[in-house]
Amino acid sequence: MTTFVSRSEWGARARRNVSYNITPQHGGVTVHYVDTGNVARQNHEECVGQVRSIQDYHMDGKEWSDIAYTYLVCIHDHIFEGRGTGVRTAANGTSSGNQNWYAVCGLVGGADPVSDQLVTAYQAAIARLRGAGGAAEGINGHRDHLATSCPGDRLYGFVQDDSLDPRNAAVPPWPGVYLSYPPITRHRSVATWQRRMRELGWSLTVDGAYGPSSKSACTAFQRDRGLGVDGIVGQNTWDACWA
Ligand SMILES: [Zn+2]
Ligand SMILES: [Zn+2]
Repeated sequence: MTTFVSRSEWGARARRNVSYNITPQHGGVTVHYVDTGNVARQNHEECVGQVRSIQDYHMDGKEWSDIAYTYLVCIHDHIFEGRGTGVRTAANGTSSGNQNWYAVCGLVGGADPVSDQLVTAYQAAIARLRGAGGAAEGINGHRDHLATSCPGDRLYGFVQDDSLDPRNAAVPPWPGVYLSYPPITRHRSVATWQRRMRELGWSLTVDGAYGPSSKSACTAFQRDRGLGVDGIVGQNTWDACWA
């Protein structure tokens, strides 16, 4: 299960300013890497320091307002929140790139292998950017915006063969949208969850609308699995349906 690390959890500095001028429904998600060499940290504890130093470099070295990326993902299946959803990025190298595309940086260099856990983290990050962030279904590499080695030939191969698309995930990643009632939640992930609940033997209608019967099935499921009982499908309840 992918772990999401919020800005406060990794100790992000306050951003200097923010622009909400982004239209990711016209583009999607652009994939980045850190460098050409070996930069992946074997010990996950060190990934946090790596994210902080990237933010320092972007704010102090480049004099940008904040870390440039929307999210960063590591080889231990963690997503670090960068600028976050709904915020314009500074990473994609062109104004149309920053206007229409989110930016997700893998904490790897071109000489690092692309692990299964990194692929899973990318799928989960992209699922959130589509679900909670309104991104269109495009996935490309930094080099598709301008001449650069980024994201390296290895990672770019995973872009080109659609491996990072959450639709190709073994288990559907949580889309970053809370399914709750009231009011009725309508999102395409509702039907995915309802279908799965039926497979697990719970009785509810697959209608794409999370209303009273979905909520009561969710509450019973949460009680059955020893989860916090709130009748809301967040990441823990979603993941438990596929565990
Ligand atoms: Zn890049
Ligand atoms: Zn890590």
